[in-house]
Amino acid sequence: MPHPLATLTALVEQIARTQDPAAIMETIVQRLSELLEVEVCSIYLCTPERDALILASTQGLSDAAVGKVSLAMNEGLVGHIAATLSAVNLADAPSDDRFVYIPETHEKPYHRFLGVPLLHLRKLVGVLVIQGHQREPFSDEDEAFLITVASQLGSTLYQLHRDGKWMSNLQDVSPFRRYTGIKGAPGVGQGRLWLIHPHLSLADVKEAMTSNPAQQKSDFADALEAVRKELESGSGKLGQHLPADVRALFHVYELMLQSPELSEGVLRLINGGASADWALKQTIDEMASMFEQSSDPYMQARSEDIRNIGQRILNQILERDQQVLEAPDEELILAGDLISIADLASFPQQRIRGLLCTAGSTLSHTAIVANALGIPAVMGVEGLEPEHYRGARVIIDGNRAECVVNPPQALMNEYKRMIDQEQRFMRDLDRLRDMPAETLDGMRVKLLTNTGLLADATPGLQRGAEGVGLYRSEIPFMIHDSFPTEQEQYRLYSKVLKAYAPRPVSMRTLDIGGDKQLPYFEINESNPYLGWRGIRFTLDNTQLLVSQIRAMLRAHAEHGNLKLLVPMISRVDEIKTVRELVEKAAEALKRDGIEVGIPEIGMMIEVPSAMLLLPKLAPYIDFVSVGSNDLTQYLLAVDRNNPRVSNLFDNMHPAMLVALEHILGQCRQLNLPVSLCGEMASDPVAVLMLVALGYDCLSLSAYNIPKIKLLIRSLHHADLLPLLEQARHCSDETQIRALFSPVLERLGWSSDHRQPPEQSKPQP
Ligand code: PEP
Ligand code: MG
Repeated sequence: MPHPLATLTALVEQIARTQDPAAIMETIVQRLSELLEVEVCSIYLCTPERDALILASTQGLSDAAVGKVSLAMNEGLVGHIAATLSAVNLADAPSDDRFVYIPETHEKPYHRFLGVPLLHLRKLVGVLVIQGHQREPFSDEDEAFLITVASQLGSTLYQLHRDGKWMSNLQDVSPFRRYTGIKGAPGVGQGRLWLIHPHLSLADVKEAMTSNPAQQKSDFADALEAVRKELESGSGKLGQHLPADVRALFHVYELMLQSPELSEGVLRLINGGASADWALKQTIDEMASMFEQSSDPYMQARSEDIRNIGQRILNQILERDQQVLEAPDEELILAGDLISIADLASFPQQRIRGLLCTAGSTLSHTAIVANALGIPAVMGVEGLEPEHYRGARVIIDGNRAECVVNPPQALMNEYKRMIDQEQRFMRDLDRLRDMPAETLDGMRVKLLTNTGLLADATPGLQRGAEGVGLYRSEIPFMIHDSFPTEQEQYRLYSKVLKAYAPRPVSMRTLDIGGDKQLPYFEINESNPYLGWRGIRFTLDNTQLLVSQIRAMLRAHAEHGNLKLLVPMISRVDEIKTVRELVEKAAEALKRDGIEVGIPEIGMMIEVPSAMLLLPKLAPYIDFVSVGSNDLTQYLLAVDRNNPRVSNLFDNMHPAMLVALEHILGQCRQLNLPVSLCGEMASDPVAVLMLVALGYDCLSLSAYNIPKIKLLIRSLHHADLLPLLEQARHCSDETQIRALFSPVLERLGWSSDHRQPPEQSKPQP
């Protein structure tokens, strides 16, 4: 039977035009049964919990069975296909041991059976089945065709599966839903879902009308005033530190903001019934197109400025909305696409019980900050649209990367018990605070903390951090509304150095770019992780870097415990220039009467070239800190923030093992102290490998310090060495993890290796 590919293309095109999930699936099963001349064609889709398959659409079986028939993974032939991810082609299905008869399907004695898994990006979406009366297997050609069809439909069915609407057509849908994502930060929390406004671009504003023009006008007027103040304080505060062209831009913005075309245009449209954001979008589009039509290139370029100013006004209008919808005074689960650090900072910390992000992954900065603050977080949650669940009860299980919406009371009680237990356990672990992180055979590991918010300085000390291994200075920049001045930075850095003195504090210079954007200095690049990031950005904005170095040196002059750390070094000239700038800044401060010594200067190893150039970089540095998050990202070419490839992101990839060993060896030869400050230092299995390698200084979030200390104190370094030797011969990260994981299991850690054994409470 010929199956021209053209027919398949026509089918894919036809379903692309269909909106309704049920109609899409109906089209597929009908067209396929005609095309393949079979009596039955059915689609089974995975439940959101991925623990069963539900008959989602059929041609040939009873319609009443749709939504009712559910097979566990590995149950029946369909479950077997799902569990093994391989096709099954049989001449007589009922005589196969794995066959189960399901009465609801009113299945006649069909014999031939062909089923193939529906996959999207290696993930199971469901199973596609055809059945017929004849007692002979389907031909190789039929099988090849069905596999091709399944691979073509995988992505469409994945989208449909992901948004979950197909379930709403089915009966017996459970009242609560469980969604899976990617581990962001450990712990369990519950509260009401509070939706964080996504960053809405002016271009995406949709037509909307208002019944309250007076309110809309007042929102617009407030937003204008807020942007005016923002610009005034932006240019005023920075003054001489700003490059002349940026200063001029502030002036152009101010003029545009005052232009009558803008205010009159918006107010006229609001009077006509438009909402403030819709009126703004139309007015800005009109003004921008007038600039674009000008023959003068200078005027043409102003269209970008007017769009920029429009975006700022829109941000203010939306922010007002958010304030109007005052968050209830109860425990909250913040939900959104990616929750910015500024959003996090605007809620009282004790009320945030969890974060639920539909984008991002373990290494997103939202997850890193959640870790630092001890807030459970699940990232890259699939199939959940938070706007559908505003105000719903939600459980966030950061240990299992799951969230449950509308949980039944019994489940809530069970989670509450787990939360209480975890809190009790963490309190017990606090007793480890003054004990050293030392293996049973005497290898001492220094545990420092990663920080960036003043809010987590105290937890760091409470949990026994021996200093700060990474102060992410960009975090205060991100929660500000304009570049902080030297004086503001000095006050802040001074507080941090003071809190930890005499313990060392490695302060990293501004590392923006990638997923770390400043709300007041947008960088638009098609490939931001390879663009204007970290030291590249600050060297190009020298005044900014100099004012930050001066602020750090002034704080160092008072407390004496600063170590200056430079991010994203990829070239020798970068670190050489930073050292020169530090020396010049110290001299300039001396001339101003502030005696300051040159602090130790270190560099992050995040870019593979820095690792390879260590001997050439060594003359300019005093220490090295391995940023395993970015090093993994750049070594493996896997975006740390992209949930689609998060399964490929693993710090225990054999290439990382080679890299980490190389770095340690080089640093020993060059006499350079080395520490590691990426999230790898919080992963118990990875810590086993690091300790085996000889990494004796780790920096991690305060929340995780006690657990990792407990682990180190229960190990023999010598026992890990044979495992390391075997790991050197492994060809993938799964094998390496499988070597080290049994150590944790023997010590009684939970099966996900995140939770230490409850019974091994620390001895006081
Ligand atoms: C790293 O890359 O490992 C690191 C610690 O820096 P950040 O996560 O802030 O990029
Ligand atoms: Mg980094």
